[in-house]
Amino acid sequence: MTKNLVVGAGFSGAVMANLLAEELGEEVLVIDKKDHIAGNCYDYRDENGIMIHKYGSHIFHTKSEKVWNYIRKFTDFNTYMHKVIGILDGIETHIPFNLNTLYDVFPNSFATKLEEKLLDVFAINTKVPILEFQKQDDDDLKFLANYVYEKIFLYYTTKQWGVSPKEVDGAVTARVPVYLSKDNRYFQDRFQGIPLEGYTKVVERILDCKNIKVKLNTEYKDINPDDFDRIFYTGPIDEFFEYKYGPLPYRSVNFKFETYNKPYYQSAACVNYPCNYDFTRIHEYKYYLDDQTDKTVIAKEYSEFFELGKNERYYPIPTEENDELYRKYFEDGKRLEKVYFLGRLGDYKYYDMDKAILRAIELFEHIKEKTNG
Ligand code: FAD
Ligand code: UDP
Repeated sequence: MTKNLVVGAGFSGAVMANLLAEELGEEVLVIDKKDHIAGNCYDYRDENGIMIHKYGSHIFHTKSEKVWNYIRKFTDFNTYMHKVIGILDGIETHIPFNLNTLYDVFPNSFATKLEEKLLDVFAINTKVPILEFQKQDDDDLKFLANYVYEKIFLYYTTKQWGVSPKEVDGAVTARVPVYLSKDNRYFQDRFQGIPLEGYTKVVERILDCKNIKVKLNTEYKDINPDDFDRIFYTGPIDEFFEYKYGPLPYRSVNFKFETYNKPYYQSAACVNYPCNYDFTRIHEYKYYLDDQTDKTVIAKEYSEFFELGKNERYYPIPTEENDELYRKYFEDGKRLEKVYFLGRLGDYKYYDMDKAILRAIELFEHIKEKTNG
């Protein structure tokens, strides 16, 4: 029987293992160097009964029916729709900046004037990346664009990435566009929610197949690759090649957890601080599954550079220079006959969960086609 090794028990590795085992009936060994499955999506219930997302808040959202149909085989979702509050110079409002935000931060008459001007230029419900939004001719709209740039993007992005919004790939800030709408949700995707029993349970079920074995606390370097017909590597591609072209840069995150003896700490699951403090945002976990407890747990999120041996890789940094470096590893990877790279670290791509799952499904479909001739 064909033997597969999957390195990494996050969503990418788990989905790949599941499809190989279920659809092709092949043997799969999944290893992970951590002491748990689910990678960065790992969650657990703490002593207060609150579901904690250990590596930061994870909200499932997708436009892809294929991904939704796949993941729904393993879990039901609640109807949670993510809303993010931002504190702009002390004023609580909605992020992304939308037509309601105008009325929160400006006097009514000025907000009305801006809304009218905006709807003359843009169609209702348009999403405009901030770097595009700044290209305005009208003085009031120029003022507004600078306001949004400075109050929402400039300091937050500098905290998050270590550089200004103009120095990171435009796709990064475009994830949170100015939204010409009164819809306060963070995501407009058709499918969204939180798995009712958490992400770890979902990954556990994805891996629960007769032909899959999972070994935790196990590093790729401790395995003999010759024992396997195929290897699916969801770890960092530069590490695989022993950094021969130099390390790929990452941002890391440090979460400082605090417990409070009161039912709630803040007004939403996620509150961004784009103007103040060294942390970027505060997560309050009990909102996601509506956990009913007298206490609450929050985490303040601090961003920092990834340093080997000091912290973990969280975000690939999408710049042209880093992409060029990645391409060198990618080209070397393509030349390896039985090794396939995937996932946020293997592909060095800023994937959300749905994109990581879709990538694994599509790579599997390619392998299946090759296998079946
Ligand atoms: P990972 O989850 O990183 O899994 C890779 C696994 O490989 C890890 O468990 C690692 O231990 C293991 N590994 C690495 N190297 C080795 C090795 N040499 N030997 C053995 N094991 C190894 N996505 C959303 O859709 N919604 C969100 O709200 C969201 N929020 C996020 C918030 C934060 C702070 C972060 C960092 C990410 C967020 N994401 C979100 C993205 C989501 O975490 C990723 O899409 C998803 O985790 C990708 O899964 P993966 O399997 O590719 O990678
Ligand atoms: N961003 C910002 N201010 C905010 C929210 C987001 O400047 O209040 C920018 C920032 O550069 C961030 C990017 O938009 O990295 C994407 O935000 P998102 O919330 O999608 O990031 P993630 O949840 O993946 O960390």
